Amino acid sequence: MIQILIVEDEPRIAAFTAKGLKAAGYPTRVESSGIAAVSLALSGEFDLIILDIGLPDIDGFEVLKRIRSHRMSLPVIILTARSTVPDIVAGLEGGADDYMAKPFSFQELLARVRLRLRSDAPSESATVLRHRDISLDLHTHHVTVAGRHVELSAREFTLMEAFMRQAGEALSREQLLSAAWGYDFDPGSNVVDVYVRYLRHKLGAERLETVRNIGYRLV
Ligand code: CA
Repeated sequence: MIQILIVEDEPRIAAFTAKGLKAAGYPTRVESSGIAAVSLALSGEFDLIILDIGLPDIDGFEVLKRIRSHRMSLPVIILTARSTVPDIVAGLEGGADDYMAKPFSFQELLARVRLRLRSDAPSESATVLRHRDISLDLHTHHVTVAGRHVELSAREFTLMEAFMRQAGEALSREQLLSAAWGYDFDPGSNVVDVYVRYLRHKLGAERLETVRNIGYRLV
């Protein structure tokens, strides 16, 4: 079930937003403290955050920064009275997906929430990829190998996701390049080899086998 976290310290606005979202079929939780909001966000129980900037403890920008430092891809919509250009830029550069200035129209907020959930929410069943003792959470970007947490960069994660989706199969460098770098790559580049080296270092060298004249295979 989709659950939305509303981070807002003004009870009237929080209640208004929660009531509207509930009526639209989205269960919510309201939190007024920025620090508590960060732990809630990292719990993995929420699918989207509506984030106020002016909060009693740490501000919304700091909340966003802490969430993104864990490489969480959770959609965040900033909702604030501070509608000046520098704030909007700071919010978007800090990793917010969208920005709305108060006073806001609830219908507009709802439209933006639906848009974010459609484009970002992975389907429930495909949230965690598993192969042997490796698990990759596509939602929280949490990776574990043999029960141990492993920190991967965004690019390493995407490359690992490509291996996990075709575990046991030999993947060519071209396939891996297009999976992790999209069309934005030079086909002659050795970037795949470099990143496979990083992954071997982090996951254990024996897990990614070299397939001669082709590329690599997740054992
Ligand atoms: Ca506030």
